Amino acid sequence: MALAEAVRDAGILGAGGAGFPAHVKYKSEADIFIINGAECEPLAHKDGAILEARAADVVVAAAAVRAELGAKEVILAVKESRARALAKLYGGVEVFPVAEVYPAGDEAVLVYDVTGRRVPADAVPPDVGAVVSNVETVLNVARATRGERARTTWVTVGGAVAAPFTAEVPLGTPASFLVAEAGGATVADYVVFDGGPMMGGEIAPEEYGAKLTTGLVLVLPKGHRVITNNRLPLEHVRTIAGSACTQCRDCTELCPRYLLGYDVTPHLSMRRFFSWGGEVADPSFFANAAGCTGCGLCELYACPMAISPRRVQDYLRGRLGAVSKGEGEGRPHADRPGRQVPAARLKKRIDVAPYDRPAPRRDLGDLPRRVIVDVTQPYAPSLEVRVGEGDRVEVGQGVAGPAPGDEMGVPVYASLAGRVAFADAEKVIIDRTQVAGGYGG
Ligand code: SF4
Ligand code: SF4
Repeated sequence: MALAEAVRDAGILGAGGAGFPAHVKYKSEADIFIINGAECEPLAHKDGAILEARAADVVVAAAAVRAELGAKEVILAVKESRARALAKLYGGVEVFPVAEVYPAGDEAVLVYDVTGRRVPADAVPPDVGAVVSNVETVLNVARATRGERARTTWVTVGGAVAAPFTAEVPLGTPASFLVAEAGGATVADYVVFDGGPMMGGEIAPEEYGAKLTTGLVLVLPKGHRVITNNRLPLEHVRTIAGSACTQCRDCTELCPRYLLGYDVTPHLSMRRFFSWGGEVADPSFFANAAGCTGCGLCELYACPMAISPRRVQDYLRGRLGAVSKGEGEGRPHADRPGRQVPAARLKKRIDVAPYDRPAPRRDLGDLPRRVIVDVTQPYAPSLEVRVGEGDRVEVGQGVAGPAPGDEMGVPVYASLAGRVAFADAEKVIIDRTQVAGGYGG
């Protein structure tokens, strides 16, 4: 069986955050395969933990993907500070040291920094001969080559918790369980994120299970500026911006997409949005928002007035539909090297430096009683859910899968043995206390 089919059958989505189906990428032709271990979100550690703990698997899978793509080269891109140590573990794989700037792990940024090739605005990396996969995706590919199915995910639990850690956990492990495993929150009033402070989103920890795309479960005090920024109603953002945006352009001048030469100009979005009365009457007028990746630098780092161009860009992107992304200059800005934001400075600026502690790898002390398995996929239509309440399921049994003709969806497998306590088009909850056994295989 071709590797792409095995990867699809194993239920593998890209673990880097976007959840793009890996099998679709591996049907491309490319001359370079880049393993993305840049891990630039502040406080994230799981890629580093995988690289240290699973080098043999990553090397085997890298060779398999390389052969599938017909690639000449495999590059492992990792933070500068780790490159030398990892090079010893990865003999035969070229280790590329990535500058410790944010967002070094953005695909277009990484492809440019590693290959010197700029991905055109409306294109994807394979269009310039490169395929990029997150480290954890590559680890999962190794397992797929052995016929194993995706039923775990690697997460770091960090922020305002007693004992940050990194572990491989059953898919769907509730965020509340993971916070408790970390010794609990160290503050009374807190908020939990799936993801980092720059690109993560608030979750309800009792109701949210870790996904294949979850790399960091982050706890922050309720009054933290990242939280207050995220919670500001858009109408409030609009009012503040209408009176406080000075059109200084700092948000644009530090935008990683603008610096790569794309037409992403948040200061213009601010001006246009507010002068148009908060409506998107002519989508092409706002096309400069289409190429925004939501990295958050404009909002949390660049803006001297502490207003939120990212929120406006997010809103506009959600309303634009299929608008072509602006190509802009078509080449990286001459000042790009000097304008990249060092990771250490970013952590201080957004007040997460006190939480920048080691998160050592360990096993879970116990298994969760139940898992909340996500059966939605960002690039697929609704999956067919194949279990119902009361059904008994075994570890690795399919609980949902793509409908006939859906080329983007991948199957979803049970991560615990137990009974289905709930199933709908968004999640399947499996409770292991109703059946002896539990997590096995
Ligand atoms: S950085 Fe802030 S004040 Fe300056 S143009 Fe952007 S949104 Fe306006
Ligand atoms: S969030 Fe802001 S800085 Fe990041 S890509 Fe979008 S506009 Fe640029």
